[in-house]
Amino acid sequence: MTSCPKQIVHYMHEYLDGDIQEKAKQELKFHIETCADCQKHFAELKKTIALVQSASHIEAPAGFTARVLSLLPKEGKKIGIERWFRNHPFLTAAALFLLLMSGGFASLASQENNHFAFTKNSELKVENETVIVPAGTVIEEDIIVKNGDIRIEGSVKGDVTVINGERFMASAGNVTGEIEEIDQLFGRIWYEIKSLFQ
Ligand SMILES: [Zn+2]
Repeated sequence: MTSCPKQIVHYMHEYLDGDIQEKAKQELKFHIETCADCQKHFAELKKTIALVQSASHIEAPAGFTARVLSLLPKEGKKIGIERWFRNHPFLTAAALFLLLMSGGFASLASQENNHFAFTKNSELKVENETVIVPAGTVIEEDIIVKNGDIRIEGSVKGDVTVINGERFMASAGNVTGEIEEIDQLFGRIWYEIKSLFQ
């Protein structure tokens, strides 16, 4: 992607925000058809948006709302903000992802990048770098595993998110929420989002 026109990634954001000029859209479309890297990148962006939009129940950390609001047009009224969010799904997704990172992921994000980390729950077992939901156990919260695997033999009443790892499901294993696996995608998207907020 280093040899690609610089504006292509920018066009992807505009496209995902539903705010792209017809000419730019054609250019993006043509480039994506001929460039496997950009095609992959675009698909990852779309996947991330779906992921972060499903994580909207996580509470915002202090100062987050002010930060997002400072990025918004100065319409002031709530209705204006809602419309703006609706018209800019990419930035909304980015905001939610940031929220996920700094809120729900706070303990994970503070660790080194390649460090094995997971949601602390006394019912979970850990073997090497695999988190195990033991058979017959019911975990009543969301589980996040970073740089490790998860083996689900019991039940999880919540979402399971695995970052840079794999998920193994035993036949009796059961997850009531969403299961997400984020691989190399994570770092790349985080980079995109950081640059978007700078
Ligand atoms: Zn390209």
